[in-house]
Amino acid sequence: MVRVSGPQAGAALKALIGRVPEPRKAALGRVRDLRSGEVIDEALALWFPAPHSETGEDVAELQLHGGQAIITGVLEALSRIDGCRLAEPGEFTRRAFENGKLDLTEVEGLADLIAAETEAQRRQAYRQLKGMIGDRAEDWRRRLIEALALIEARIDFSDEADVPENLVEPALQAARQLRGEIAASLADGGRGERLREGLVVAIAGPPNAGKSTLLNRLARREAAIVSPYPGTTRDVIEVHLDLGGYPVTLLDTAGIRDSDDPVEQEGVRRARERAAAADLVLWVTDLSVDGKGSIEGFAGPTAPEHWLVRNKIDLAADAAAGRSESGSNGGIKHSLTISARTGAGMDELIAALTMHAKTYFASTEAALVTRARHRRALEETGAALGRALGQSSGGHEELIAEELRSAATMLGRLTGRVDVEDILDVIFRDFCIGK
Ligand code: GDP
Repeated sequence: MVRVSGPQAGAALKALIGRVPEPRKAALGRVRDLRSGEVIDEALALWFPAPHSETGEDVAELQLHGGQAIITGVLEALSRIDGCRLAEPGEFTRRAFENGKLDLTEVEGLADLIAAETEAQRRQAYRQLKGMIGDRAEDWRRRLIEALALIEARIDFSDEADVPENLVEPALQAARQLRGEIAASLADGGRGERLREGLVVAIAGPPNAGKSTLLNRLARREAAIVSPYPGTTRDVIEVHLDLGGYPVTLLDTAGIRDSDDPVEQEGVRRARERAAAADLVLWVTDLSVDGKGSIEGFAGPTAPEHWLVRNKIDLAADAAAGRSESGSNGGIKHSLTISARTGAGMDELIAALTMHAKTYFASTEAALVTRARHRRALEETGAALGRALGQSSGGHEELIAEELRSAATMLGRLTGRVDVEDILDVIFRDFCIGK
């Protein structure tokens, strides 16, 4: 599909197919080369006059037959029209934002929706695209501005007899209520952000225990694999899994080794940091070397939970694969026996991981905050409200007003209503051309 947005969109459509169809009704048209008049393709054309379009501008869309020569021909024909040029990545969305069709949180929701790899991520992104956090923040901002207006009225008209004395108390009451609601939305354990990134599971253990073999086996499972790619540091291999609709990011820290090379040391440091921040550690041991499967040498991350995965069951004839024990053995929550080579016990391991992800994300349905940016904005809003309330006993109305104003500004930044030039490029950079 080729999409044209802006004041020349109608002219472009007329030049290409000879007419502008009825708004929002599909029409069949022959797309012609402007100079030779030769038919490039037969296309379905759609016309969305402003402001009822995705960008808020006039928009024309051509559904073409998708071949490379067709696309090149159509883009070339368009480029000969005055004022037509190729869109930048994310530019359609950016215009939609600038024309008030989407607020900034909705733009982020759209980016997440496009990037969503699992059902749970898709649902969360769609909720955000539909304004879940944006509408909430706007409501907070509106109430904040009402409270601010009361204080300002009190300041401006304090000498006049008919302005009631008790304007400040209702304003503070509203601020208190708002601070409570914002604090509640922040108290979600970071699950919204985590759902975007996936539950992080680090595979750790002594050398040659079979960590890489295990990761490869997990990654090769057709049902599970989403996209294997090397991690951000060359020392961590990262694999994304879709387990029961929930995103799980597996990290193989096998590459973590000591080095004298300062660049590599930095990589190792980052890899360690990444593993230390994991939600779950699978501590892999070689059953044939260490029958009990101790976590001796477990100098690694103090994750909230770690499981013992005793590998190479195929080398120990007597033990049963998949045998799983729960209980505490030096901090071990769960113990499984597998063979990464033969695949024995893998179903049990996957089932346990799926269960864990499900439990972990169970309460995400209502998560409002999905990005660090949102969290920061809401934290700063809450802090400003706290300072406003702290001024209440002193009766410094100007200071209260100042803090409420800055709280409103923070909320405005969240939805992109105020002063956000600096973050726009960062947000739109992630889109591809045509979005
Ligand atoms: P890592 O250093 O922990 O990543 O270990 P690797 O995955 O590289 O495995 C070390 C060696 O153990 C390799 O030769 C693997 O083929 C072997 N290995 C891994 N898992 C198993 C297993 O379940 N059974 C047997 N017999 N060998 C295994």
